[in-house]
Amino acid sequence: MTHPFEPDDDDPRAFADLASPDERPHRVARADEIPSEHIDQDARRVLSRLQRNGFEAYLVGGCVRDLLLGRRPKDFDIATAAHPRQIKRLFRNGRIIGRRFRLVHVVYGDHVIETATFRGDPGASEDEGDLLIREDNVFGTAEEDARRRDFTINGLFFDPNEGVIHDWVGGLADLEDGVLRTIGDPAIRIAEDPVRILRAIKFATRLGFRIGDETWAAMCDLAGDLMRSAPPRVLEEILRLMRSGTTLGAFRMMRACGALATLLPTVDEFLGTRNDPDPAAHDRADSYWRLLEALDTDLHAGNDPTTPVVLAVLFLRLIERRVDERGEGLGDGDWARIASDEIDPIASRARLPRRAIERAKRIITAQRRFTQPSKKNFRPLLFLRSSEFPEALHLFRLRSAAWGQGWDLYEAWRERHRRALEMPEEEIDSLRSKTRHGRRRRRRRRGGSRSERGAGRDGGRED
Ligand code: ATP
Ligand code: MG
Repeated sequence: MTHPFEPDDDDPRAFADLASPDERPHRVARADEIPSEHIDQDARRVLSRLQRNGFEAYLVGGCVRDLLLGRRPKDFDIATAAHPRQIKRLFRNGRIIGRRFRLVHVVYGDHVIETATFRGDPGASEDEGDLLIREDNVFGTAEEDARRRDFTINGLFFDPNEGVIHDWVGGLADLEDGVLRTIGDPAIRIAEDPVRILRAIKFATRLGFRIGDETWAAMCDLAGDLMRSAPPRVLEEILRLMRSGTTLGAFRMMRACGALATLLPTVDEFLGTRNDPDPAAHDRADSYWRLLEALDTDLHAGNDPTTPVVLAVLFLRLIERRVDERGEGLGDGDWARIASDEIDPIASRARLPRRAIERAKRIITAQRRFTQPSKKNFRPLLFLRSSEFPEALHLFRLRSAAWGQGWDLYEAWRERHRRALEMPEEEIDSLRSKTRHGRRRRRRRRGGSRSERGAGRDGGRED
């Protein structure tokens, strides 16, 4: 049986069989279909003041794309001919930020309008054969700024005061056709910044766009180059993908173009080869896809996962497989070690906060508490009141949804949690101190002379 979401022979993205126009003339279009109330008032204020002072200025990037698609933009960015100091001079509430490329945050309460000076072509890099952009700090014209952006649909400039959209890159046509394409030669643009592979996947899955043939071919050719991008940036993009409700589609694309094998080789290996005749291999991949699907569905129902939950989803099945291979009777310590082996190498390379990593491991290790809660030394009430309980329960809900079992247990634990939260604080404290006390007594009885002597000298301090 084939899981409906595991691509077989089909290419997972729909084909964009469109000619790629090399000649993209400057097109100016009326933007009558954008209702003015959809445009942020603070952004409009910044634009108007820049323009009144003689500086060319536009709304740019994601907000123009989203306005044209009738979606609500996440934020409104501005690009202008004014240099950072000139912008700063016009706005008392402006803060110059950034070391490498300085831009200005114009701040209205907790709302920030990012205002950047047009950037130009970074020019030839020192090593002629190496396209990777490391510096990006030359000022330029509006057209140059548009051309150095990543995808055509992200390269549109909008002047709401004139009601006009400037298109130097063919973005309007691609928006109409629902196609995602790099600006310029995809092989060059992706080699310059391989993270654009993940950005392409993010926009294609989020907007339901097809990826143009040449762009897709370059993504497949250059997926290995993702090794050269800064790991924190790469993992941040993956976690962002996973928090956007299109994880399943995004991971299918990452797998199909080879990005998954580069970035998360253990996950790629876990999913096995496409046409593995072994039914166990197929079930294994199926269980992974189902968990990603559950994450998406849960998110659409309004439950945003935390970073530890997302990390746990990424590695849960890999850890469970290792545990299964080791057989029965593994304790918390074994689980924790296996979880560390799987998660630590990737998470620390990406410099994820230690706390998030530790928490991800704890909520994975905690999963067995939901199904076999009556272990020795287990205090359900302390588990219910532990800080990681809500995230552990979130992961348990995802597992129940993914594999269609354990839903009754989930409901029961949720109810227990509700009741535990109503318990008076003193009762919990006394239970905690009883548990600590019990642990100390046991340790002393065992007669480990060092810990006993240590405890005595420190006046019974725990550690
Ligand atoms: P979102 O809605 O997710 O914020 P966005 O299009 O606004 O999408 P951002 O990451 O906020 O994306 O970037 C803003 C704009 O900056 C993009 O629309 C694009 O024009 C440009 N940009 C961002 N990252 C890159 C990149 N790696 N290479 C070239 N241009 C980029
Ligand atoms: Mg944005």
